[in-house]
Amino acid sequence: MGKLDKLYAVIPVWAQNTSVSLYGYYWRWLRFGAGYQDCVREYTERERFRPDQWQAWQQERTASLLRIAAERVPYYRDTWNSQQKEAARRGILSELPLLSKDPLRADPNAFARQENREGRILKFHTSGSTGTPITTLWTIPELRNSMALREARSARWAGVSFSMPRATFSGRMVEPNPESSGPFHRFNSAEKQVYFSAFHLRKETAPLYVEALSRHDIQWLTGYAVSYYLLARFILESHISVPPLKALITTSEKVTQEMRVVMEQAYGCRVFEEYSTVENAVFASECEQGRLHVSPDACVLEILRPDGAPCDPGEVGEVVATCLFRTYQPLIRYRLGDMAVWDPEPCPCGRAMPVIKEVVGRIEDVVIGPDGRQMVRFHGIFVDQPHVREGQIVQERLNHFRVRVVPTNGFGPADRIEIVQRMKQRLGPAVEIEVEVVESIPRTPSGKFRAVICQIPPEERPQ
Ligand SMILES: [Zn+2]
Repeated sequence: MGKLDKLYAVIPVWAQNTSVSLYGYYWRWLRFGAGYQDCVREYTERERFRPDQWQAWQQERTASLLRIAAERVPYYRDTWNSQQKEAARRGILSELPLLSKDPLRADPNAFARQENREGRILKFHTSGSTGTPITTLWTIPELRNSMALREARSARWAGVSFSMPRATFSGRMVEPNPESSGPFHRFNSAEKQVYFSAFHLRKETAPLYVEALSRHDIQWLTGYAVSYYLLARFILESHISVPPLKALITTSEKVTQEMRVVMEQAYGCRVFEEYSTVENAVFASECEQGRLHVSPDACVLEILRPDGAPCDPGEVGEVVATCLFRTYQPLIRYRLGDMAVWDPEPCPCGRAMPVIKEVVGRIEDVVIGPDGRQMVRFHGIFVDQPHVREGQIVQERLNHFRVRVVPTNGFGPADRIEIVQRMKQRLGPAVEIEVEVVESIPRTPSGKFRAVICQIPPEERPQ
């Protein structure tokens, strides 16, 4: 914990609200200051580009980014061979190597452009749910660009705006005391934003979360999908009445169909999914037709087969992304660790922006069958299990799985048998399944939920 965090932890709630708001005014300027409105307008105008316009625009930006990388960024200058540098100068992305997270994690400064410093550089850290956090470096115009992108392609598509009061579930330490009896939110008056604690959400605390929505006249919700899903379950179980809301835009975790139905029922508004990362290597958002469009002016998104060839539509592959507007610390062909699939059908909304059919899951969330098969979408075993509030699958050894279950009233032996049967159906009869009933499932240090954890080290996984 830093000095400021320590200070925050010991001051009273009203002082925490004040400090959140003072900090909020500074951040409002950083994120929505000069240049922001122009970016929103440009993103909105480009939305109706024809495919050939998109292609030309994207190719020009890609070429310019690759030239910067090859000539001015130490990592690429030192690791790309002469053929690759030549490809970069000609703007041919597909001839460049893929970039894993490790070099960036080890030395983020090696990815920073060596000249043309544009004033202050901001540092952000990824959650580090699976290892050391990654530091990303941004100029202020880049940060404003990323907010404009979210406003134009995410908020406005959902019929809302960052200028309207909103609530957010994120990894922030909102309430420092784990034993606190509330409140479990703080209010940033600069942006009329309620910050919710992702760590205090329980059936007993849920009414206080909903009360914060009414008190601050919140219009829309955004942030961690699983936190909103859990709150939605409590709202429905306890029949808590929710003030009118315009939209919920989820981030971070994947939204399953079941989660979507529960959340739309509880909050009385539509759920829109946003697919992005802290590194901002990728950006996709859901249009009014419910399809997930990649923004080609924000990133080049590739879905690749294990041999590096592009996947056909409908074929699951690894997501590799190149952000086009972060030119201070360019990430070229960055491996996000996600698996996804292109939609073969164009979207009826008429936008000629590529559609992702589904982000299938995280590569590290793959479960390995005793025969070596890698399986994704394993959290599906909890679908239609009315007595399971939350479930997590941990693969401890090749043939041993622990299923953690947070039960609702009525969970009994039949539910246990059903879980074991579903697991064996997928993995074969030889695996051992241990069902463990728990009060809660621990979150990652940043408050995220992981549905599937494979504890088999990569070197012991069958090839
Ligand atoms: Zn669409």
